Amino acid sequence: MLDFCRRTLSGKPQGDNQPEPAAGKTLAAAAPLRNAIAGSILPPMQVIGRGQHSVSRRDISPSALKVLYRLNDAGYEAYLVGGCIRDLLLGLKPKDFDVVTNAHPEQVKQVFRNCRLIGRRFRLAHVVFGREIIEVATFRGHHSGADDEESIAPKLKTASLSDHGQILRDNVYGTIEEDAERRDFTINALYYSVKDFAIYDFANGMRDITARRIELIGDPDVRYREDPVRMLRAIRFATKLNMDIAPDALTPISQLAVLLKNIPAPRLFDELVKMLLAGKAFDNFMLLRDTRILKQLMPQLDKLLKQEPEGKAFSLVTRALQDTDHRVAIDKPVTPAFIFAAMLWYPVELRSQTLLIESGLNDIDALNIAMTEVLDDIQRTIAIPKRFSLTMRDIWALQYRLTKRGGRRAFKMLEQTKFRGAFDFLQLRAEAEGGSLTELASWWQQFQFADDTEKLELINSLGREAHDRPKRRRNNYKRKRSSTPDV
Ligand code: ATP
Ligand code: MG
Repeated sequence: MLDFCRRTLSGKPQGDNQPEPAAGKTLAAAAPLRNAIAGSILPPMQVIGRGQHSVSRRDISPSALKVLYRLNDAGYEAYLVGGCIRDLLLGLKPKDFDVVTNAHPEQVKQVFRNCRLIGRRFRLAHVVFGREIIEVATFRGHHSGADDEESIAPKLKTASLSDHGQILRDNVYGTIEEDAERRDFTINALYYSVKDFAIYDFANGMRDITARRIELIGDPDVRYREDPVRMLRAIRFATKLNMDIAPDALTPISQLAVLLKNIPAPRLFDELVKMLLAGKAFDNFMLLRDTRILKQLMPQLDKLLKQEPEGKAFSLVTRALQDTDHRVAIDKPVTPAFIFAAMLWYPVELRSQTLLIESGLNDIDALNIAMTEVLDDIQRTIAIPKRFSLTMRDIWALQYRLTKRGGRRAFKMLEQTKFRGAFDFLQLRAEAEGGSLTELASWWQQFQFADDTEKLELINSLGREAHDRPKRRRNNYKRKRSSTPDV
């Protein structure tokens, strides 16, 4: 899949006009029900009957089923939609079950006592069953002046677009067709009803599930402009579902990646966490790099990777991401702090070295200032919450302290709660760089598991250098930004 993407990006012919892959058995039996509505970007809708698909009530959350039945009993339409149907069709366990209905949020609230309304951008109902929450959304309608005012008069029409076509507000209710049209990918516009147990396929999603293809609904250029985060979602779904991004959905990304600059930094952090902490971090990272999205999100790292595509920065990031993927696979805890620390370590180190040379600072001050500058920079694009950025600082700062092993320092180091993370990080750096780091990492590996006598021997085996205190140079650097020395 990655090779395929790289080939496409390198501009080699991809056969955009390849014939449609043969439809699966389910599709052969599916019947077109309605023609596309006038002006709609949707193909004719297909109904896939209960015997012709693999979605079974056994695999659906009982709470979600209750919500569907109750809404139907109250006279409303209700469907399961999006990721849950897609994942069930692919034989995967859905993360959650999302319901859509023609009932307005206030009407949903009247049907369920255990319901609360949330959200300003788009009002949603949350129906609460103990620890499980079923999200119920009202069908979304159109957001631009495309509708004539009369036909939209009964709707609550409060959506708006920015100058570059991005959706800013989105509180418009509509029909199921409009709702389907507003969804991102064809495979995410499949609706399942408990009235007839059929799947309503509004965008040839079944075809693309069978072909294992990520395809946008409508014109990719327009859909990415409306919401540039869809570029990240295309990559995430491709790696998560082991699918290919269709050439027409892949090609525009490198040009439009710059639009991610308009996305609020907290949303970008959330999306990146979904990409980097769900077991496919390495594959996602490679696609982010190849589609030039990385250049927008982390220009400091991207620059280093361009200078030395197989260099130490690439090697460290690759190892950190593969390590994270492995931990996810065996259910070990993972944290964004470690990944972001790895991605930004060499930018920090580079800045720190520049400060040492240009400003005559000592090692500690240079590192502290470099950390502050790099973190300030990244926060403008990706809002890394403080609890993670503080851990990143700790991991980085301890890299320096791990080089100071003389006297009691190594013993004190072991007492640090952050020692384990810092040592893991050092090991990855050693693998990435080799040289003196290999000796340092293997010394700490021995030291932490040695008994007291062996520990003393290990310390005594160090040359004088390890016992030296850092030399303080005259500090003639005028700080532009504040920094708290914490090494
Ligand atoms: P998963 O939860 O497994 O990551 P999902 O498809 O359920 O995948 P969600 O973010 O939970 O993803 O979104 C639910 C559904 O809402 C999607 O399937 C899609 O139909 C729609 N959706 C979500 N984000 C967008 C978007 N940015 N643009 C258009 N539709 C979207
Ligand atoms: Mg979901």
